[in-house]
Amino acid sequence: MSVVDVAIQESHLRLLNAELVRADNIERAAYILFGTSRIGSDPFSGEPRVRISIKEVLPVTHSEIKSADARHVSWSTERYAQLLADAERLGHNVGIAHSHPCGPETFSTQDDLNEAELIRMAQNRNGSDALLASLLITGGGAMRARLWSSPQRRDDALFIRTIGGRWRIFANAPRTSGGDGEAWSRQSLALGPAFNELVRGLRVGVVGAGGTGSPLLQQLARLGVGNIAIFDPDTVEVSNLNRVYGATRDDAELRRSKIEVAQREINRMGLGTNVVTFDDWIGSERCRDALKSLDIIFGCTDDHDGRGLLNRLAYYYLIPVIDVGLSLRVTERHGETRLDGDGRVTVLEPGASCLLCRRVIDPVIASEEALRRSDPTEYERRKAEAYVRGEGNPAPAVISFTTSVATMALEEMIQRLQAFRGTDGAIANRVRRFGFAEDVRPGAKTEHCRICGNPRIQGAGDIEPFLGRVG
Ligand SMILES: [Zn+2]
Ligand SMILES: [Zn+2]
Repeated sequence: MSVVDVAIQESHLRLLNAELVRADNIERAAYILFGTSRIGSDPFSGEPRVRISIKEVLPVTHSEIKSADARHVSWSTERYAQLLADAERLGHNVGIAHSHPCGPETFSTQDDLNEAELIRMAQNRNGSDALLASLLITGGGAMRARLWSSPQRRDDALFIRTIGGRWRIFANAPRTSGGDGEAWSRQSLALGPAFNELVRGLRVGVVGAGGTGSPLLQQLARLGVGNIAIFDPDTVEVSNLNRVYGATRDDAELRRSKIEVAQREINRMGLGTNVVTFDDWIGSERCRDALKSLDIIFGCTDDHDGRGLLNRLAYYYLIPVIDVGLSLRVTERHGETRLDGDGRVTVLEPGASCLLCRRVIDPVIASEEALRRSDPTEYERRKAEAYVRGEGNPAPAVISFTTSVATMALEEMIQRLQAFRGTDGAIANRVRRFGFAEDVRPGAKTEHCRICGNPRIQGAGDIEPFLGRVG
């Protein structure tokens, strides 16, 4: 275990700042409950990784504090023992956060000693797999994190990533060298040089390299995203050539895969982008590790079952998913034929409604797709007997509309990272009505949702079965 990073909701970070960094400049502390995501092999580096996702923040109360001043805080560990018991039962871990209101921006020798004692307690109580995460917040707004896997072993987190409105990265050290500055000099003028460095270090996934995925991939690479993972099991067909960027008649005739074409087109740009590709179903063992390694995922698939998986992943692993959808229909009104079309961009993250609540996923179609994958013979039998609906007619598609909705999705990512529309400019769900040349923002009801309305699963990380999905 060595490469560690942390994901935390903006709301939890606000709570930590409000509780731990106050005007009196006295050190304060909180417990954090966290899930873990263990990655066997990171798709870009090949290294194993551990990601921490924070589920809950529980401030240490006034009555628990034994003594505190600007340079130290000590408190009774009575509640820690109780939290460890709960953690064992519920399958998460317990960590701590504390503040250095007047610095230093690093953990102190006293912190090292205290935390070694806390991990010893955790492992005595819950076994040698128990972990202790520790966050440090300073008065200057800096953050550090580390993970203890034994009283002797601690690893500094490479970065802390926020989700839930803004997507900020607090890096321990510069994440990457800036890349080719000249290639992005015009972008710098618009979004600032820090933005270029930020996106260079990002790991972005695109699920589906077709109509909306391919323009998105082109734009992500040219935006300067340093690491891109592409997921698509399909090959190029002649009927894709009206909208898949870079695809040629040769690709269709030779039945080249969409991921191969997408990777080739990005490599041809010569921008030094790391591209990894996956042609299996995103629920496969190999794809799970890759998905769990990403910082941002775009869902550009028509597959309801695939959407359902990404819908859960966003909340369980605190990895934001930007889901893209396009539906075009030819309608007739008052004897006039029109093209009615909706392009939709939905951001999935804690605090925002999920695709089930927005009725984007049809659970019946999703289960039919799952059957087609797991038992094709049974699927064909039911189709012949008309128990399942089958694939239906091909959907209409025009390059201007597929590209437009991909661009909307990318703009939303830029907003979350850089706030070009201002700090309140994030849009959770945006629909472009092409037939009316207007954008709308439909809401959703989320009250009793078992995914987006359920704080217990948000940041849960690895559980059995994966994402709580059965079958
Ligand atoms: Zn300290
Ligand atoms: Zn929901």
